[in-house]
Amino acid sequence: MPPAAACVTMAAPVTRRTLMSKPTDAAKLDRVVAQARRDAEKRDQGYREQALKIYPWVCGRCARTFTHANVRELTVHHRDHNHDHNPPDGSNWELLCLYCHDNEHQRELEAAGQAGGGGQKHVSATHNPFADLKSRLKR
Ligand SMILES: [Zn+2]
Ligand SMILES: [Zn+2]
Repeated sequence: MPPAAACVTMAAPVTRRTLMSKPTDAAKLDRVVAQARRDAEKRDQGYREQALKIYPWVCGRCARTFTHANVRELTVHHRDHNHDHNPPDGSNWELLCLYCHDNEHQRELEAAGQAGGGGQKHVSATHNPFADLKSRLKR
């Protein structure tokens, strides 16, 4: 009978290698900063992802449909134009393709210009980076 080669299990007792249990202040700060950055990104990305989850990927104006391949061209419009107003039920969101979204804000600009004497024009223009381009193309 050969000696049992089975007694391998005595090898390495698990030593306490819990170096991570005492993070330095710098590491902690790094984590906090990283977390804050993630939170900020989440806030920006959050409503878009939510809206894409809630609504079918169809432009609310021209009914163009979207897939994962081109969903980047599908944007989230805020019905009341307040990007900080993001009710979780999605009632302030509308999915629009880039072009219709552009049109939507362009109409808003024109309506504001006719009604209000154009005083707030550049305020709205900062909200919509395409607006200026569009009006220049029109000329
Ligand atoms: Zn569209
Ligand atoms: Zn919009």
